[in-house]
Amino acid sequence: MSDEAIKVPAESELPLSTAPTPMIDPFGRAVTYLRVSVTDRCDFRCVYCMAEDMTFLPKREVLSLEELDRLCSAFIAKGVRKLRLTGGEPLVRKNIMSLIRSLGRHIDTGALEELTLTTNGSQLARFANELYDCGVRRINVSIDTLDRDKFKAVTRWGDLDKVLDGIRAATKAGLKVKINMVALKGVNEHEIETMLKWCHENGHDLTMIETMPLGEIDGDRTDQYLPLSTVRARLSERFTLTDIPYKTGGPARYVTIEETGGRLGFITPLTHNFCESCNRVRVTCTGQLYMCLGQDDMADLRAPLRASEGNELLSDAIDEAIGRKPKGHDFVIDRKTRQPAVSRHMSVTGG
Ligand code: SAM
Ligand code: SF4
Repeated sequence: MSDEAIKVPAESELPLSTAPTPMIDPFGRAVTYLRVSVTDRCDFRCVYCMAEDMTFLPKREVLSLEELDRLCSAFIAKGVRKLRLTGGEPLVRKNIMSLIRSLGRHIDTGALEELTLTTNGSQLARFANELYDCGVRRINVSIDTLDRDKFKAVTRWGDLDKVLDGIRAATKAGLKVKINMVALKGVNEHEIETMLKWCHENGHDLTMIETMPLGEIDGDRTDQYLPLSTVRARLSERFTLTDIPYKTGGPARYVTIEETGGRLGFITPLTHNFCESCNRVRVTCTGQLYMCLGQDDMADLRAPLRASEGNELLSDAIDEAIGRKPKGHDFVIDRKTRQPAVSRHMSVTGG
């Protein structure tokens, strides 16, 4: 696998006039949003996401930066308008900025509306200016607590101060930062108000996420699960929440908080079924296309990608897979079996 800087393939630059019609799945949903996990590796070991002693993929199985570029460009040529890079931790992949710079050409041509990423923020101080320069305008940064010791306990290897420095650098560079916080029972459930105020004082939207049963971890998920319906009910006792139709292309439902003047999003895969408006698919760093985060069905795109230099085989494989995008997921946190609903980790499909 080569992690050298990418040579930009000219054929995938789409003039505006030939903007494609989007892919439509069997339930009439247009697939316009692609999330790509660029690595399964990470410099943190968040307790709900990974076991401390993770086995990562051998490098030869992971798509090269050139292959990731070809893959993303093929999806853009098929009508994807929003691309999110994730992981693992996207910014720990070697030479990742050369991929981001190369993908930025699709923003320049207008083929892509948004190029964004989800990051743990550990490397942001280093990359913030360059990200802006490549056409990135918004990023999501995950922080579950503002308490230094607890942050260390949740992420196992993370350093809160480094992440906060990274967020400041990103804001200074002109990036809009949204904070993602996973609601964890008994861990951060009494810090949500503090986080909300901190976010809104600093101009960040906050999105709360329920823990999803993905992959084996060291602990028991039924102990971590805190329904966002409970979070919302508690916040409503102290704040005025008003539902708004605001959308960022993702599954969050938003409210405004009158007292702070900011936005709060809820991603509730377990308590609320958000599948009916699902517009996205996910690709792993090995080129497996998952049509649904909560299902095991996938299509291998690495074989058609590597089988020829042209994109025809790849394009056909994508069409075939979109044709079997399921109606919805089967998540449930099961107290009896205590097994994850889906065996792969979030760091494989990247959340
Ligand atoms: N490393 C980056 C980060 O932490 O933002 C990107 C990848 S991470 C897998 C993407 C998002 O998924 C993060 O906001 C993380 O908190 C969330 N996440 C990870 N495992 C999860 C789980 N089991 N349930 C819910 N959210 C999870
Ligand atoms: Fe790494 Fe993100 Fe998973 Fe935490 S949530 S272990 S930062 S991939």
